[in-house]
Amino acid sequence: MRHISILGSTGSIGTQTLDVVREHGDIKVSALSCGRNIKLLEKQAREFKPSLVSVWDKNDAEELRVKLADTDIKVSYGMEGLIESATIEDADMIVTAIVGMLGIRPTIAAIKAKKAIALANKETLVTAGHIIIPLAKEYGVPILPVDSEHSAIFQSLQGNKHNKISKILLTASGGPFRGKNISELKNIQVEDALKHPNWTMGRKITIDSSTLVNKGLEVIEAKWLFGVGTDKIEVIVHPQSVIHSAVEYEDGAVMAQLGTPDMRLPIQYALYYPDRRTLSGKRLDLFDIGQLTFERPDTNTFKGLSLAIMAAKKGGNMPTVFNAANEKAVALFLDKKIKYLEIIDIIGQSMNEISYIDDPKVEQILETEKMTYDFISKRW
Ligand code: NDP
Repeated sequence: MRHISILGSTGSIGTQTLDVVREHGDIKVSALSCGRNIKLLEKQAREFKPSLVSVWDKNDAEELRVKLADTDIKVSYGMEGLIESATIEDADMIVTAIVGMLGIRPTIAAIKAKKAIALANKETLVTAGHIIIPLAKEYGVPILPVDSEHSAIFQSLQGNKHNKISKILLTASGGPFRGKNISELKNIQVEDALKHPNWTMGRKITIDSSTLVNKGLEVIEAKWLFGVGTDKIEVIVHPQSVIHSAVEYEDGAVMAQLGTPDMRLPIQYALYYPDRRTLSGKRLDLFDIGQLTFERPDTNTFKGLSLAIMAAKKGGNMPTVFNAANEKAVALFLDKKIKYLEIIDIIGQSMNEISYIDDPKVEQILETEKMTYDFISKRW
């Protein structure tokens, strides 16, 4: 029986992971953790009965301890709480569903504790892939992608371990502003950017999808997960989001995974890998869809993608600068402190400004994050 710990159980991926657990009833939840949503965490704790829950803030932890006083559940907090959740003895798999670079330390701790990783938290791989991937190899720990595109690539690779990939076809919906030009993007409001055409996700990733920054992060994530150069990753805008991504082999054969846009499928695939299980919900009906279409991404308008590829090619701490600048800029945009197009300006200026470090250690990655945040706070 699988035992899991979910980092970020109250978010979009976290709650859908629990939906899968609920649907099958044969996975034990060992630990749950979140940022501040203790109301939902308490509800989840009562339903799934983990032995540990953890929150970010000490006061929230104290409040939750009182609420859960009638149970045996231990309550922890802060980075220590996250690391305790990531290394809890009882779990054999950690679902990393927190958002941002906060995931780096707990993911490293989980790998060292020999836990399989179901990885949704792409920012960890984007900024610390050069540490995480060799470490996972050293400890013999599998990293199972949860991101739908990477799960599709992973599924398309099954049975082809020894065959050479000629390229990865990474699909993108194009987001809510596909086809718009720069002047039409000038006055985009938060509410407009939060409307994704096909997927329902957390707020940050929804904004990232609209700027194509998310696709850029996914290119870097794919580079680490599948060990290919960015020149072998082709982004294809596919507005119907039916083909979740594909792999082209050296003989020209293209293997893809198709399905409805439902994150529970890649989550479930990671949880039960290599088995497939039944999953409730809508099935893909190709007659209903009728047509699948494809376009090249408009990287002149949506510079988030080209900046990400630039950061990936430069390597070192540049993906961290890209990611940290984006995290800060998106937060400023969600707080209505900057305009939509400034998100990309902030990323570009940060990449020009922050000093380059080759092969950064975790401390240097976190320092780069701080330097990027400080640079942005002074200017905006
Ligand atoms: P959400 O914003 O919906 O959820 C984030 C989770 O992280 C919440 O449980 C949140 O808790 C928790 N969290 C935030 N801050 C802290 C903290 N300081 N300490 C502990 N926990 C914290 O994000 P998503 O679920 O959308 O995304 C999670 C990750 O998965 C991201 O890296 C994203 O890029 C990736 N991803 C998401 C997809 C999706 O469909 N949503 C698809 C593919 C990848 P709280 O609720 O208390 O704030």
